[in-house]
Amino acid sequence: MSRILIIAEHDGQSLNVSTAKCVTCAQAIGGDIDIAVFGKGIEAIAAEAAALESVASVIAVDAEHLAAPLAANWAAEALALADGYSHLLGPSTTQGKDLMPRIAALLGVNQISDIMAVNTANSFKRPIYAGNAIIDVEVPNGAVVVATVRIASWSAAASSGSGSVDVRAADSEAVAHTRYIGLKSGGGERPDLQSAQRVVAGGRGVGSEENFKIIYSLADKLGAGVGASRAAVDAGYVPNDMQVGQTGKIIAPDLYMAFGISGAIQHVTGIKDAGTIVAVNKDSEAPIFEIADIGLAGDLFTVIPELEKLLA
Ligand SMILES: Cc1cc2nc3c(=O)[nH]c(=O)nc-3n(C[C@H](O)[C@H](O)[C@H](O)COP(=O)(O)OP(=O)(O)OC[C@H]3O[C@@H](n4cnc5c(N)ncnc54)[C@H](O)[C@@H]3O)c2cc1C
Repeated sequence: MSRILIIAEHDGQSLNVSTAKCVTCAQAIGGDIDIAVFGKGIEAIAAEAAALESVASVIAVDAEHLAAPLAANWAAEALALADGYSHLLGPSTTQGKDLMPRIAALLGVNQISDIMAVNTANSFKRPIYAGNAIIDVEVPNGAVVVATVRIASWSAAASSGSGSVDVRAADSEAVAHTRYIGLKSGGGERPDLQSAQRVVAGGRGVGSEENFKIIYSLADKLGAGVGASRAAVDAGYVPNDMQVGQTGKIIAPDLYMAFGISGAIQHVTGIKDAGTIVAVNKDSEAPIFEIADIGLAGDLFTVIPELEKLLA
């Protein structure tokens, strides 16, 4: 039977929803599911993890050198816990993509990326070519599966479980070659783009960095995260961590609102799992309307103020 260990993602305050999505993927694999929470002062986060449906136990490793999500330190601790587990899973987020390959390398196995569906305990589906094709990838029998889970493909496990929590000291030591300097967050108080339930995004049609204020303003009224097309990033309107799409972030919010975005395949790849897609574009022939649930042919500089009036 499979024994699955999920490495939790969190910000030191609360569990990231991507961990609950990894649990749903683990349920599809089947077997015992444990979660490892690394950090300092993480009892509340461990309790959140233990409440996820189907989680048997949470191993909360409380140590100063694990306080920051430094992949080099976390990977060493994951290695110390890995014995006896058939699967080690993490989310396909920026943090997970940093951490999981290191764990795979330390275990001497290849990493499986972006699990979007489970065929068997060692065979999985993942997207390739910007989501235009799906392939089956198989791990040799007996090898440990180390994988990232494509969070846009899975819903979050419910918080109806009652796993145990084991708080313990670290088995690993701080690595010497990498130091944590600090975290600079560009998004301020706005929800994180990758886990936000609502995202408002702007494209080249927004026209300038100054004009992007209109996108931030609407996002703040909706409690939404803010995204952008690559053209908007390349033009310098916004920083590149806001890019959505094939070479940016793959997201699956309940609501995605695209303003002045044409709908190129590389952009659409990043949003096609969103619940409801709303598009506003002054070109009624723009390809974004082919995938939008709600489309409005209009000028974003007219539409957004009107939307804001209605929201007020
Ligand atoms: C290998 C590769 C990877 C890529 N990865 C990504 C990626 O990850 N993400 C990504 O987004 N792109 C990516 N691209 C780029 C992609 O092909 C497009 O060039 C890009 O998405 C276009 O961005 P855009 O829609 O903002 O700009 P445009 O295509 O220029 O569209 C701007 C739109 O704004 C509309 N508009 C203009 N003014 C207004 C207004 N006042 N009101 C309303 N609408 C208005 C126009 O009608 C137009 O449809 C990639 C390309 C390649 C080759």
